[in-house]
Amino acid sequence: MKKKISSWGQKNKFLVNLSSPQDYKQLLKSIKSPSFIARGNGRSYGDSSINYKNTINMLNFKKINSFDIEKGLITVEAGILMRDLLPIILEHNWFLPVTPGTKNVSAGGLIASNVHGKNHHKVGSFHNFIKWFNLLLPNGKIVKCSRQSNYKLFFWTIGGMGMTGIITTVAFSLKRINCDKLLTKTITFNNIEETIRSFDKYQDWDYSVAWVDLANKKKIGKSVLILANHIKKKTKIENYTFNKTSNLFFLTFLSPFFNNVFIKIFNSIYFFLNSSKRQKQEIMSIDNYFYPLDKINNWNDIYGKNGLVQYQFVLPEKKFKTAIYEILDLINNSKIAPKLVVLKKMANETRKGISFPMRGYTMALDFSYSNNVSQLFKSFDSIIMKYKGRIYLTKDYLIDKESIYKMDPAMLKFKKFLKNKSYYLKINSLQFKRFGFK
Ligand SMILES: Cc1cc2nc3c(=O)[nH]c(=O)nc-3n(C[C@H](O)[C@H](O)[C@H](O)COP(=O)(O)OP(=O)(O)OC[C@H]3O[C@@H](n4cnc5c(N)ncnc54)[C@H](O)[C@@H]3O)c2cc1C
Repeated sequence: MKKKISSWGQKNKFLVNLSSPQDYKQLLKSIKSPSFIARGNGRSYGDSSINYKNTINMLNFKKINSFDIEKGLITVEAGILMRDLLPIILEHNWFLPVTPGTKNVSAGGLIASNVHGKNHHKVGSFHNFIKWFNLLLPNGKIVKCSRQSNYKLFFWTIGGMGMTGIITTVAFSLKRINCDKLLTKTITFNNIEETIRSFDKYQDWDYSVAWVDLANKKKIGKSVLILANHIKKKTKIENYTFNKTSNLFFLTFLSPFFNNVFIKIFNSIYFFLNSSKRQKQEIMSIDNYFYPLDKINNWNDIYGKNGLVQYQFVLPEKKFKTAIYEILDLINNSKIAPKLVVLKKMANETRKGISFPMRGYTMALDFSYSNNVSQLFKSFDSIIMKYKGRIYLTKDYLIDKESIYKMDPAMLKFKKFLKNKSYYLKINSLQFKRFGFK
């Protein structure tokens, strides 16, 4: 079926052949097309889950195959969404070991992007919790991949953005929690250096994330750090209910007012409100701490008709401070303020494929798209390359072929790996076409 779809950034709508197989027979038929890519819930920001010839929507594969409530081991089909899985696991005092900032993501998407959460400094990325997954190859074979079998495919698939095949089933371990509430602590910092230091000072907390203000030139990098620990008191979690969500139809109309002036005022008020409460502690629900943005289904509409583009990078710990000043200079000279900026600390991670995390700091900057923003991202790329960092492919829409190979030498190895297995040439997304795959 021909359908117009876009991903979370909504910069473009793509008219694609969208197939939505209902069962494995239909899925096998669907991969007979000359070219395809798997798609989960479209929460990646750019073009990574888009193929004009055949975009395969996996959301009908949403069964829970097994759930060991004693050991916290679960096997699910790849199209299940975390928002549907959460009530089931929470009822038995289990939680996701790693979660992104939205629960509207599929299990397949979690693996293909190798997501990280606010606890990366403690537990690393999702890959640490994957026991095995089944991967459907373009020749119709399903192979079981784990650290023990088909390990090369295992590692290239984790963070491999759907390019190695279609993940059909995944087994992963969960995190035991005593209660569905978190104790949070909010602390403000006056500049980027204090903000960076704070991550080490508060490293014992399970979760940490900083909202950073890059619009104020006098106090560059002032921030609000939000820490959280699961509450230890044993409580039976019953009738877990999500926050109500809504669609706000007027956000698109408000988008012209969502400009640099608005951001400056908003940031100042947000910072003031938090700093006046000094080291505020409060109890928060899982939804309020992990998924505040999910309350408004269409919050991305506020970025306007040109869409939202995000630049998320990670830099080695020792290079971050120097690099961030260069990035701030670029932002100041461009006179385009990012609308939302978040900073997290990342721990060491053994990297075997092309997945994103490395020890250091990761920052995500949201902008409304314009040609000037596109130029600004190119300048960011040079800085990230210079300091040996990398960008997060699941947020990318703009990096060009030359830059991605310079930035990440593993990309060439990935290309070679896929070429050697010639049947992989059938799989492609607009993103990897941009990178010159095939
Ligand atoms: C508000 C918001 C907050 C976010 N916060 C974070 C965060 O804190 N940390 C983080 O790491 N990420 C974060 N993300 C990004 C998000 O977690 C990833 O983009 C995730 O992959 C989206 O899952 P999806 O099911 O929507 O996948 P899609 O967007 O549909 O696809 C993403 C990639 O996965 C591949 N894929 C999907 N399903 C399969 C499958 N079955 N088999 C093979 N490949 C498949 C696609 O081909 C594509 O390359 C956030 C996104 C949003 C919108």
